[in-house]
Amino acid sequence: MTSKIGSTVLGYPRIGPNRELKRALESYWAGRSGEAELREVARTLRENTWRGLAEAGLDTVPGTTFSYYDQVLDAAVTFGAVPTRYAELGLGALDTYFAMARGTDAVPPLEMTKWFDTNYHYLVPEIGPDTRFALTDTTVVEQFREARKLGVETRPVLVGPLTFLLLSKPATDGFDPLDKLPELTDAYGRLLGELHRAGAEWVQLDEPALAADRTPDELDALRNTYRRLGDLAERPAILTACYFGDPGDALGALASTPVEGIALDLVTEPSTQDNAAATTGLRDKVLVAGVVDGRNVWRADLDRCLTTAATLLGSAGEIALGTSCPLLHVPYDVDAEPGLDPQVKPWLSFAAQKVGEVVTLGRALREGRDVVDAELAEARAAVADRASAERVRNHRVRARLDSLRPADSQRADYAKRQAAQEKSLRLPPLPTTTIGSFPQTTDVRKARAALRAGRIDQATYRQRMRDEVERVIALQEDIGLDVLVHGEPERNDMVQYFAERLDGFATTDHGWVQSYGSRCVRPPILFGDVHRPEPMTAEWAEHAQRLTDKPVKGMLTGPVTMLAWSFVRDDQPQADTARQVALAIRDEVRDLEAAGIRVVQVDEPALRELLPLRADRRPAYLDWAVESFRLATSGVSEATQIHTHLCYSEFGDVIDAIVALDADVTSIEAARSRMEVLADLDEVGFDRGVGPGVYDIHSPRVPGVEEMAELLKTAVQAVPAERLWVNPDCGLKTRDYAEVERALRNMAEAAHRLRA
Ligand code: GLN
Ligand code: ZN
Repeated sequence: MTSKIGSTVLGYPRIGPNRELKRALESYWAGRSGEAELREVARTLRENTWRGLAEAGLDTVPGTTFSYYDQVLDAAVTFGAVPTRYAELGLGALDTYFAMARGTDAVPPLEMTKWFDTNYHYLVPEIGPDTRFALTDTTVVEQFREARKLGVETRPVLVGPLTFLLLSKPATDGFDPLDKLPELTDAYGRLLGELHRAGAEWVQLDEPALAADRTPDELDALRNTYRRLGDLAERPAILTACYFGDPGDALGALASTPVEGIALDLVTEPSTQDNAAATTGLRDKVLVAGVVDGRNVWRADLDRCLTTAATLLGSAGEIALGTSCPLLHVPYDVDAEPGLDPQVKPWLSFAAQKVGEVVTLGRALREGRDVVDAELAEARAAVADRASAERVRNHRVRARLDSLRPADSQRADYAKRQAAQEKSLRLPPLPTTTIGSFPQTTDVRKARAALRAGRIDQATYRQRMRDEVERVIALQEDIGLDVLVHGEPERNDMVQYFAERLDGFATTDHGWVQSYGSRCVRPPILFGDVHRPEPMTAEWAEHAQRLTDKPVKGMLTGPVTMLAWSFVRDDQPQADTARQVALAIRDEVRDLEAAGIRVVQVDEPALRELLPLRADRRPAYLDWAVESFRLATSGVSEATQIHTHLCYSEFGDVIDAIVALDADVTSIEAARSRMEVLADLDEVGFDRGVGPGVYDIHSPRVPGVEEMAELLKTAVQAVPAERLWVNPDCGLKTRDYAEVERALRNMAEAAHRLRA
């Protein structure tokens, strides 16, 4: 019989409670500190995490909670998938790793993409016929020993072999990384042997790819892989973790293999519980019941968690209690937020609190509810308070939603709009514009910091921002752009800015979550019915419009993006939450119009991010996503031109939705894919204004006139010139003025040449 797992979490944040790793990494990359210092920060973070988890009372502690950059990259390095171009640089191990993550002057980094439907981004391994999988790095084993020296027995965690290859991309056309699965499985087998010799009792292999649609061949591959690993004589017990959804048929496949444990996400999809109950193969296995939400920030309903666990008691050999997924996607600690709304705070649970919840649940299951009576009562009270709080349910907002009619999400005929807008705007052919933000200068950032610290007052701060708007308008006039923007200097972030101004949202001071590498985001918390107490942006746009005769474009963040980049409530369908946000934006769009703004852009860069992992869920999502955008933008007259901006060039599954948004003009990332998107749009009959980015703002490189004119020539072949707009790929916030000014002058010149 294998040892117990008991109460556990599947993983933990790693950037550091005060973002210690971020600082250490950035200092190392900038050459301000050496490798020894970085390694010491990393060691301390690991030690604190392991000790903290053990002392909190978890029965078992995950081992590989640390990464210098990304867990997928770690697996690539562990098993020798280092492309030659990085190996050839002749750097030390750590710098080769960072070269893959960030590139060097000589080589670009690996591609980076979203980790399933989270806001975390991983590096995409490149696997080709020449990849030789082997156990080439034993950090996982060393860290197991390191924890043991501290007196903590850990369960090392790795991305599982199937998910690893499914997330990889072929290094050469036509190659299928899955062809390498047997070879990779053998390399995993060797690692399992090493871990066994080091004394590890369990290893955790994460297979979140099972939450997405999988082919019968892939399920066979899953079975074969875990049989092969299971048949090894010398290995730890294997816990395969399936999270981010219901593994569907993959659960039965996995249960038919010799793995000793399976962790299930019982939060994301209600169907998972039935699936587990119906899967007979679990009877001799440990089932880690992921009842505590590992991805969202709400305090768990412990009674309900216990009921869920109890219904599964007969389905598995042992029930252990855990989080639905690793805690990588939530902040560290609610107690680090003295400034957080005091009514909302008790409703929340970040990583540290979730560990406490799992511990309480584990004790209740093992020793009976009585021993944790106080903890259960406290949780019950908090959950009840949240459910009945007035701020969560605003009757006026609800009544307004109930009274909406289909016509509220419907604008006039496009032909009519087009004529009215032409008359109102009088734009030249191939009009030039930007996506909204201009560089956030040190002065702007300093002013914001000074305001926060109370060194300047609100009036002084606003004056500085107004001055900045004046500079940005003057620059655009000088360059000769056609539709101007105010530059967004007053916005710390395109979601947080609005969250701070809307009822129903709370924001944190330290609630950082890793986005990729050293980059973190601080998602607002959408806890209640959303209501806009007063206009949020109109005065800035109005100020800008007074400074110029050219049309100034108002700038708003769309409902889907507001949801995607926040922690959202789990007590009503996302569609309802999105409609509430849409109404607030709708009012803002109207206020902009009333203030004399003739063009309004509602950004939806995250439209594709929330796309469900399972294809059969996508139509319903796209329906509410489109509907909420239309609700936000349909309250204005025919003459008001609505723009939207999207941040990716591969539309795939969302292309029909983009048409359905019914925006007058859509700007979209296109420079890196060299305008490919235009053909895709053409195929689905898109006949509105389109601004394919002609300038890749992700790089400091300034494209020349010739280069942008070439891209525009490609574009006019795909789109009639009357519909074509000229703009960069995205906002200019992260660039500096020297680059931006040159690039925009070149862009304007390229447009002039094409007009001629
Ligand atoms: N208007 C925003 C900006 O320019 C859009 C940002 C985005 O697409 N992520 O910064
Ligand atoms: Zn963008």
